[in-house]
Amino acid sequence: MPESEPAQPRPVFQRLTLIGTGLIGSSVARIARERRDLAAEVVVTDSSAAVLDRVAALGFADRIEPDLARSVAGADCVMLCAPVGAYAAIAAAIAPHLEPGAIVTDVGSTKVSVIRDVGPLLPRRVHFVPAHPLAGTEYSGPDAGFTTLFQGRWCLLTPPDGTAPGATEQVAELWRRAGSMVEVMDPVHHDRVLAIVSHLPHLIAFTICGTADDLATEGASIEATRSEVLKFAATGFRDFTRIAASDPVMWRDVFLNNKDALLEMLARFTEDAQAMARAVRWGDAAYIEDRIGRGRKIRQGLIESKQA
Ligand code: NAP
Repeated sequence: MPESEPAQPRPVFQRLTLIGTGLIGSSVARIARERRDLAAEVVVTDSSAAVLDRVAALGFADRIEPDLARSVAGADCVMLCAPVGAYAAIAAAIAPHLEPGAIVTDVGSTKVSVIRDVGPLLPRRVHFVPAHPLAGTEYSGPDAGFTTLFQGRWCLLTPPDGTAPGATEQVAELWRRAGSMVEVMDPVHHDRVLAIVSHLPHLIAFTICGTADDLATEGASIEATRSEVLKFAATGFRDFTRIAASDPVMWRDVFLNNKDALLEMLARFTEDAQAMARAVRWGDAAYIEDRIGRGRKIRQGLIESKQA
C-alpha cells in the first residue's frame, strides 16, 4: 500500500486580509501562500496603487483589493500592516465592513497607541488582538519581504482585558506557524521594553548620522569630513548607517506613538552618556572598562540565545 501523505493541518483562518503590503505585510503574505496553513485565502490591500501593481507582479496574494472596505468583507482575520500613525483612519474606514466574529490584529511597533487608536472604533462583535513581531530589516516595500523573516523571532501579543482567549490563541497559532515564539505581554510594559531595545537604538542611529552629516556642512575647515565618513565607515559608523536606513514614515510614527517611554529611556541614556563622558574626562579607566565589559556580556547573551 502506498504510504499516505501526512494530513495538512487546517488553516488557522479562512480569509486573511493584510492592510499594508510592505516588508512585514508582504512577508506574512509570502508565508501564508507558501504554507497554506495560516489562511486558505490571502487578500491584500494598500494605500499605494504602485505597491499593489508590484504585488501583482510578485504574485504573493490570492486577491488584490484596492478598496479598503471591500478588502475586509468576508475576512475572518484582518491584519493591519501599515505605519501605526495610519491605524486610526484605517480602523474607522473598515469598522462598518468587518464580519461579526472576525479578529482584527496588527504588527505595529507600538502597542498602547494602537489599543488607544483602534480599540474604541471596532464593533463589539469583533475581537481585537494587537501583536508585534520582533523581526525586521532596514528595507521596506513589497520587494523586501521574505518567508523566513519571523523564523526563531519573538512575537508579542498584547490583548486588551476581556479579549476572548480563543481569539488570542488563533493569532498566536498563526505566528507560531510563521516560525515565531509567542509571548503575551501587558501593552505598557511592551512599549517600555521596546523603547530600550529598539526605539532608542534607532533614535541614536538617526541622530549620529545627522551629526556626521552636519559636520560635513559646517565649513571649509572640516570640508573633508563627509568623504572621510564614507571612506572610513567600516569603523562602527557603518553599523549605525544600516539602522538609520530604515523607513522614515514608519519610524516617525513609532517615535510619536511611544513618546513617553522613549523620552524616559532617552533621559536615562543621556545620564549614562554623561557619566561615561565624565569618566573619559577624568581618566576613570575602571568605569570605562566596566561599561564596555557589560556590553560584551549582553552581546554574548544574544549569541547564546540565538537572537544575534
Ligand atoms: P513598509 O515596508 O513601509 O510598508 C508599509 C506599507 O503600508 C506601505 O506599502 C505603505 O504604502 C502602506 N500604507 C501606508 N499607509 C497606509 C494606509 N493608510 N492604508 C493601507 N496601506 C498603507 O513598512 P513595514 O516595515 O512593513 O512596517 C509595517 C508595520 O510593521 C509598521 O506598523 C511597523 O511599526 C511594524 N513593524 C516594522 C518592523 C520593521 O523592522 N520594519 C518590525 C516590526 C513591526 P506607501 O509606501 O505608499 O505609504
